[in-house]
Amino acid sequence: MIQLYNVSKVYDNGVKAISDLTLHIKKGEFVFLVGPSGAGKSTLIKLLFREELPTRGQVMFNSKNVARMKAREIPHMRRKIGMIFQDFRLLPQKTAAENVAFALQITGASNKEIRRLVPQVLEQVGLKDKGKLLPSQLSGGEQQRVCIARAIVNNPLVIIADEPTGNLDPDTSWEIMKLLQDINRRGTTILMATHASDIVDAMKKRVVELSRGCLVRDEESGVYRSEL
Ligand code: ADP
Ligand code: ADP
Repeated sequence: MIQLYNVSKVYDNGVKAISDLTLHIKKGEFVFLVGPSGAGKSTLIKLLFREELPTRGQVMFNSKNVARMKAREIPHMRRKIGMIFQDFRLLPQKTAAENVAFALQITGASNKEIRRLVPQVLEQVGLKDKGKLLPSQLSGGEQQRVCIARAIVNNPLVIIADEPTGNLDPDTSWEIMKLLQDINRRGTTILMATHASDIVDAMKKRVVELSRGCLVRDEESGVYRSEL
């Protein structure tokens, strides 16, 4: 589903953020992306979402070369990717339900579909009775659940989460991880950049480690820090 072939990214200021990276992620996988700050994790995510273009190499998503996509194909590709962020990025003036509905509206869903799908995904993330509340009236964990609802409502092929537990306490973080694991079990691929070593160590998923833009470790059932 995601294939990078010898990808390098050099920013305009000369910083080499990704170096000759080759990486394949199959449908249904759960992958932790780890590495110190500045290792290139966010750049990798931006390359997948086509917020940045590779300087060299190919980024393939769902059998398409992301860099060669026509302008009109880009929104379609982005709809197949559910993004989740550390800082939630909800629309503050819209309720939980309206935030989720908005993600459907921009893809052209009918009002009938919106009325059916919004309560369904809010229930799936455990927010059945909170749809009418604003983000400011929700806890951090609840706000992240709204983000997850917004990310899954268009039935994406992959969820890309950049430090989704970075602003949450440990118990709430685990609730969010259980939700992501549940979504993964239903078939959605998950790529999650994180510094939460306890979560990575407990979940025994594939771990891909970047260091200074290079892939330095790729383990099935890995831990946060290699024993080497
Ligand atoms: P991580 O997400 O692992 O912390 P990043 O991908 O954010 O790593 O950063 C990788 C490197 O690229 C760092 O040296 C960072 O300073 C640099 N970088 C990130 N974004 C930009 C940018 N827009 N312009 C120039 N350099 C950047
Ligand atoms: P399953 O769904 O397979 O029964 P869980 O989703 O409950 O498993 O948990 C997945 C992993 O996360 C397990 O390794 C479990 O030990 C760990 N885990 C779950 N909740 C916590 C927590 N609150 N603190 C630490 N580890 C936890």
